[in-house]
Amino acid sequence: MLKALELSGFKSFADKTRFEFHEGVTVVVGPNGSGKSNVVDAIKWVLGTQSAKSLRGSEMTDVIFNGSGSRGALNAAEVTLVLDNADGKYGGESQGRDVAITRRVYRSGEGEYLINGGACRLRDIRDLLAGTGIGTEAYSIIEQGKVDGLLQASPRDRRAIFEEAAGISRFRAKRQDAARRLARVEQNLLRLSDIVDEVE
Ligand code: ATP
Repeated sequence: MLKALELSGFKSFADKTRFEFHEGVTVVVGPNGSGKSNVVDAIKWVLGTQSAKSLRGSEMTDVIFNGSGSRGALNAAEVTLVLDNADGKYGGESQGRDVAITRRVYRSGEGEYLINGGACRLRDIRDLLAGTGIGTEAYSIIEQGKVDGLLQASPRDRRAIFEEAAGISRFRAKRQDAARRLARVEQNLLRLSDIVDEVE
């Protein structure tokens, strides 16, 4: 469950802004262009979206506040998503009661990801969230057009969505990973036996 979202320098949110999500439904209301969709963009971005287009920009650094009437542009954007880990769903109890996922990007184009303040790879975030239903490719963010997409999806794609919902996809990913490692080891063994043949 989402607990909070903190934005700083992200799109129209120049100042540090914190949203708290409580049980039940949270509705964000505001006039056109006031930044409602930017909140959803921030959630997609912190979860690792690599496509600037899906965030309605052309470059990844477009998410950094680029100035408004009285304020100059900023040099970095940062978003933190706090997840409630009371049931150990996100990486077990060792992660703590709350798990905070952070993404930063600088004007230079450099960026970083953190889990509970510690630097990590995007892959670590994907592993943490696999099978939980949260993720850029998961079903927890249903954007305009996604329902249509689901109805028109091929049986294979639709099955992938159900597998993610059922928590199976994390095991599938692990199995693929293990198979890849096994193939590498087999290659090494083959090479080794060639060398042994040469030496003999
Ligand atoms: P609508 O109801 O029209 O969909 P909305 O409330 O969802 O509007 P958004 O599309 O989220 O609004 O916000 C767009 C606003 O964010 C625009 O005013 C745009 O100028 C501002 N914005 C987007 N990127 C940046 C940026 N990098 N720096 C500053 N402002 C930005």
